[in-house]
Amino acid sequence: MLGFNYQAFAARIVFGPGKVAELPIEIENLGAGSVLVISTGSQRDVADTAIDALGTAYAARIDGAVMHVPRENVVSALEIVRQHSCDCVVAIGGGSALGVAKGIALERGLPVVAVPSTYAGSEMTDIWGISEGGGKTTGRDKRVVPKTVIYDPDLTRGLPARLAGPSGINAMAHSVEALYAQNRNPVLSMIAEEGIRTMASGLPSVCDGSAGDDARSEALYGAFMCGLALSTATMGIHHKLCHVVGGTFQLPHAETHTVILPHATHYNRDAAPEAMQAIARALGAETAAGGIFDLAKTVGATTALKDLGLNEKNIDRAADIATQAPYYNPQPVDRDGVRALLDAAYHGRRPD
Ligand code: NAD
Repeated sequence: MLGFNYQAFAARIVFGPGKVAELPIEIENLGAGSVLVISTGSQRDVADTAIDALGTAYAARIDGAVMHVPRENVVSALEIVRQHSCDCVVAIGGGSALGVAKGIALERGLPVVAVPSTYAGSEMTDIWGISEGGGKTTGRDKRVVPKTVIYDPDLTRGLPARLAGPSGINAMAHSVEALYAQNRNPVLSMIAEEGIRTMASGLPSVCDGSAGDDARSEALYGAFMCGLALSTATMGIHHKLCHVVGGTFQLPHAETHTVILPHATHYNRDAAPEAMQAIARALGAETAAGGIFDLAKTVGATTALKDLGLNEKNIDRAADIATQAPYYNPQPVDRDGVRALLDAAYHGRRPD
């Protein structure tokens, strides 16, 4: 018998090549008249065009949002909001630009319009994060969920393979863990499998430079689905390990996810057979873990922690930290198992 809870966030989605041109209509729909535009450096030209199109609704801009949302950047953004009496924030770029917009929404409750240019998926979630004094505070709050998301695949044209590959596989990690999450349900599983399927279909040609509108749209649609999966699913061993290994040893975020994902999937192979079938089906692969590893190789991503700068002697420490506090995972988490997982990820061995 079927029985489940599914929590959805009500964002308006506008999807398609060239759709960023509809930003002024979306701003009008929200009844906003004084807009702050935040962008990452790579999206400066897109922001210029958007600002011209906004006309009198444009109030101020912030360029060059940086990783990890430093508290001082949110504080100075709030001051700009105050000076210009802004009533809406537009974030054009990846998770960093949106992170500042979420910081503003958290403090002032302003509506956010997200225009993503990577596959990170933050635009679908109620998760915010602000860093200060060497640490990062995160939380969940419905106020930070964007009211409108414009997915325009044209914005991903300039995404180089070294960013696109790990960003896409990082997105898939959310769907992989959603498929065996403690709070999994049929709606979530359908979204997660579709996210893996479409991302895996579009990503290789995005990375080898041969992508046309269809492949770029597929990959961005996959990012949308994977972000949607992240917004409601509880995460398991993969996210725990990435948090510990990446955070403790300062490894790059998306690349660490890309290396660990095949091994975390392999770890759960016997305890989550339905999830494994769904992942393998979505990838068109024989096994879930092998399929993810092969995709990472195909898109030219790094597949070994040693190549991300982890020292081999830190594997034991990482295994200790990651097994200190209990958490849900389909396969019970034990130190020897986690150590073996990290060892395979360190050397970049293909899971069988
Ligand atoms: P990012 O926004 O810092 O972008 C990474 C780099 O790519 C930047 O140098 C940026 O300028 C460049 N870039 C972005 N789009 C580009 C494009 N189309 N072409 C060329 N270059 C481009 O980071 P990200 O990878 O988008 O997101 C990762 C961050 O988002 C992390 O800090 C992570 O913690 C956060 N995140 C948050 C959530 C959430 O729910 N709150 C979810 C996922 C990720």
